[in-house]
Amino acid sequence: MVVVLERNATRRQTENVVNKLELLGFTVHRLTDGEQIVLSASGMKPNFDIRQIKILDGVAGVYRITDPLKFASRNYKQDNTVINIKEVKIGGNEIVVIAGPCSIENREQIFTIAEIVSKGGAKILRGGAFKPRSSPYSFQGLGEEGLKLMREAADKNNLLVITEVIEPSQISLVDKYTDIFQVGSRNMQNSPLLIELGKTTKPIMLKRGMAATIEDWLMSAEYILSNGNMNVMLCERGIRTFETYTRNTFDLSAIPVIHKRSHLPVVADPSHATGLRDKVIPMARAAIAAGADALMVEVHHDPENALSDGPQALLPDQFSEMMRQIKLIAEVIGRKI
Ligand code: PEP
Ligand code: MN
Repeated sequence: MVVVLERNATRRQTENVVNKLELLGFTVHRLTDGEQIVLSASGMKPNFDIRQIKILDGVAGVYRITDPLKFASRNYKQDNTVINIKEVKIGGNEIVVIAGPCSIENREQIFTIAEIVSKGGAKILRGGAFKPRSSPYSFQGLGEEGLKLMREAADKNNLLVITEVIEPSQISLVDKYTDIFQVGSRNMQNSPLLIELGKTTKPIMLKRGMAATIEDWLMSAEYILSNGNMNVMLCERGIRTFETYTRNTFDLSAIPVIHKRSHLPVVADPSHATGLRDKVIPMARAAIAAGADALMVEVHHDPENALSDGPQALLPDQFSEMMRQIKLIAEVIGRKI
């Protein structure tokens, strides 16, 4: 950690800062740059709260130089993590497409959509049975009945299943039907849920909280990783900004940022990021170009009557067109879909 003192810091203030640092167990070295005093303090614990020093009189700035991440960091593991789920690999050269409705609504709906996305080239079927809706009056999902239907529809169409789990007590139930656990944006910092998922062995897709920084998001991944489950993928699904035209703002640069900072695979979700069907294909293309390892999109054969997120669902023809286009982009960057 580096502590920069104010230019006019008094001797007493300086001594006080040095004493405090030493009392906290740091080894302190004093450097001077002209009139400015800079302290280098080594021996920082990962959980040290730098505000303890920031608030001291005479301190102009405190800079952490040690990495707060442990398992999610590229320093911990240099090679990309590749998650193997049956025959599907996420994080390798091949880009995986995850598609399906927002929610499982009924048997006919999930079977119809599963067939469409499987024929179009998706490898994983998505769909929520427990929906964490912003409003308690919105459709909350079919629960276990929905999970059963989705598993059957996926098996029939040679697809894997990803579905959301919203609280720790549901894990064992959802585990019976899913191949991947999804943690939704609204639960990214639900640490009891993350800790329990860390004790499972199935892959976890951790969606970015709508107001979470990349660092917050990676710290949430640490909760899962540090509890023993190393199969974590991160899903960029848009963040809240001042822009309201789209549902969220797709933070595309998070994709290369995560790839540099972490070895974990990145999934891009242009459906929740834009909230508008006609913006999904362009942003899917962009996500592939930016290096996403997987793409997750919502698809519905009858979006007008969908029980959730109809306006952002791709129509079947649009899904095939998206697949055609992203295959071309993947080729340009030396990857396959
Ligand atoms: C979803 O993927 O169905 C979902 C609810 O997304 P998010 O958690 O990103 O809002
Ligand atoms: Mn949705």
